[in-house]
Amino acid sequence: MTQHAGTGAVGLFGGTFDPVHFGHLRPALECLVALGLPELRLIPSAMPPHRAAPVASPEQRLAMLRLAAADQPGFVVDARELQRPGPSYTVDTLRELRAELGDARPLCLLLGTDAFLGLPSWHHWQALPELAHLVVMHRPGFPREALAERADEAVRALLAARQLASPTDLHGRPAGGIWLQPVTALDISATAIRASIGAGGSARYLLPDAVWRYIEQNGLYRKV
Ligand code: ATP
Repeated sequence: MTQHAGTGAVGLFGGTFDPVHFGHLRPALECLVALGLPELRLIPSAMPPHRAAPVASPEQRLAMLRLAAADQPGFVVDARELQRPGPSYTVDTLRELRAELGDARPLCLLLGTDAFLGLPSWHHWQALPELAHLVVMHRPGFPREALAERADEAVRALLAARQLASPTDLHGRPAGGIWLQPVTALDISATAIRASIGAGGSARYLLPDAVWRYIEQNGLYRKV
């Protein structure tokens, strides 16, 4: 199902990646394969509007993401949000990408279930499905049933109006659908990784070895 780069659907996966871990990488790879995406862009945010400032610097988070993505065909690190001043609004990123990639190309915005449930607090969130499809990856602690139970009215309505019956529907139009993608449940979070390193522990086997080496060499996340 994989299409040629330059024509097929593009996956977009944003986050603070502070640090990037296997809970990001494995679900993202599973989406790349399951949806037949020729390209999946990993987009680190500079100043996430919803949360405390990242601990590692933008350069360090970018370096870790590059190490993590280096050997995976299809993974592309896109640093545009780090180069843009002000808060990193996804709607701005999607508008930029839409202008660059053209109106016809399907864009698939990947989100963990937790992020999807919080969507109505995002800047101009109602514009997002007009600009891209939403691909929701199940995150441990947020099973499929929880989606219906925990979703507020706005998210429920969005899902009812836009949920797709098949992932192939993503390729037929440029935006507007929501696909719930089952992925391997990996109960890994960057918060827990930072806490563990801060307490003197190791994050080995929770993220790529090259990223762990970078964290150790740069003394990241250790309490000072
Ligand atoms: P933190 O613990 O600092 O909040 P995080 O591990 O949640 O970090 P983010 O960079 O905030 O990582 O997440 C970026 C995106 O990755 C979000 O859409 C989030 O839902 C998704 N995500 C993060 N961890 C997982 C996971 N273990 N499984 C599936 N999706 C995940």
